Amino acid sequence: MMVSEPELNFVLIPLLAASHIIPMVDMAKLLAQRGVTVTLVTTTLNVARFTAASDQAIGSGLLIRVVELQFPAKDAGLPEGCESMNLVPSLALMRNFFAAINMLQDQAEKLLEEMKPKPTCIISDTHIAWTAETADKFQIPRIIFDGMSCFTQLCMHNLYIMRDQNKIPESGSFVIPDLPDKIEVTKAQLPREFNPATLSTQDIRDKIRAAETRAYGIVINTFEELEPGYVDEFRKLKEGRVWCIGPLSLCNNDNLDKAQTGNKASCHKEECLKWLDSWQPESVVYACFGSLAHMAVTQFMELALGLDASGYPFILVVKSGERQALIEDWLSENGFEERTKERGLLIRGWAPQVLILSHPAIGGFLTHCGWNSTLEGISAGVPMITWPLFAEQFLNEKLLLHVLKIGVGVGSQEVVHLKEEEKFDVQVRKEEVMKAIKTVMDKEKEGTDCRKRTKELGQIAKNAVDKDGSSHLGLTLLIKEIQEVQLNQSD
Ligand code: UDP
Repeated sequence: MMVSEPELNFVLIPLLAASHIIPMVDMAKLLAQRGVTVTLVTTTLNVARFTAASDQAIGSGLLIRVVELQFPAKDAGLPEGCESMNLVPSLALMRNFFAAINMLQDQAEKLLEEMKPKPTCIISDTHIAWTAETADKFQIPRIIFDGMSCFTQLCMHNLYIMRDQNKIPESGSFVIPDLPDKIEVTKAQLPREFNPATLSTQDIRDKIRAAETRAYGIVINTFEELEPGYVDEFRKLKEGRVWCIGPLSLCNNDNLDKAQTGNKASCHKEECLKWLDSWQPESVVYACFGSLAHMAVTQFMELALGLDASGYPFILVVKSGERQALIEDWLSENGFEERTKERGLLIRGWAPQVLILSHPAIGGFLTHCGWNSTLEGISAGVPMITWPLFAEQFLNEKLLLHVLKIGVGVGSQEVVHLKEEEKFDVQVRKEEVMKAIKTVMDKEKEGTDCRKRTKELGQIAKNAVDKDGSSHLGLTLLIKEIQEVQLNQSD
């Protein structure tokens, strides 16, 4: 009699933030396409984010389950419904948000105990440190995911070493050591943990870093051909347990999938496509700053005026939230919307970004260089106008401008920390925005070369996720590895 192989059940636990949930949902689809049962664990309101994408995957016969946890907002001193990082009202309440995440451990472990088939591994967002204990309790491997590239992982690793030795200069640029390329930064461009250097949430970060060192391995949303030297170095650092399986967004290959990434789009997808259809190929600039950042109103004005001054048609995403009313006041007082209505489309709320970027009319992506957005731009072969804001985005910009050479910067020099945007006021003037857009969009040498390189990389990205491509193989190797761990345990 043949003994059948034990069933695999990968439990995916994303951080409660759109930009961490979106790639994990894509990862779930890819794993399920390989016959693995996938259980996504998240909280009630975040299930709503999954519903469209995962329902469709389930409808097409994929084995994805969504397990719901109750988010203890009240117990953690957060406003009701504050289940996503972008909804946390202030920097001070970030501690409470992480406290609430910690409170989810017991609920999640109870559900894991009852799960059938039994969990085979946990793929956890790095920021959910308790999953390290859970994996130990269930004696299964914990693979981490934190949404950064190998380039940025290595930069951060070396920066931590510098910080611990007090070697990060207060001012002026310095070279990040031990990297395949010469990468220069300033302290002012670095994420909060280096700039200022101590944090009110330092203890939380320390716990996360400690849990990180205990992880079995790490999955990266990248493809080997994008950053080969950095993948090699990072793999050495992690003793081989690094699996590159991206770009994850490329698993959304029809318009419905593309339109359903993340939240429900605030605009009608058909109208948006019709609008784009009315423009020449590569003529429209798409401007969006991700799911978290809320620009100061004064800075938003410079952005909008710079877009207008460039003379190119554009889509500008105006995020909903606390500053939207002030932005709306300015848009009408200034007459911006009326004046630009022939060639400008404002999307209020959530844009179907992956769908928009894949339209042939898009010629440039004005981006804050979040890693998901960066990879989505590359996958669509769209050159980037870079405007990093916070966290590791200046590092992503270095990769785009100095290593890959597929973008032009607006010239921002300093991080604008999340939830402190008003304090930073105007960092980039409209003239600089206009100039960078024109450099990418005008058919001069710099923009043309940039476009050519991005298109080539876009094609390589698509090949990487195709059958026999490097990321396809990466996922095969990850599944095999987990299968082997499982078999060794049942021996
Ligand atoms: N996104 C979107 N529509 C929006 C804003 C964001 O679809 O209006 C998606 C975008 O496609 C990407 C993610 O949200 O997948 C943003 O992630 P990223 O890492 O770029 O930035 P973050 O939100 O972490 O700053």
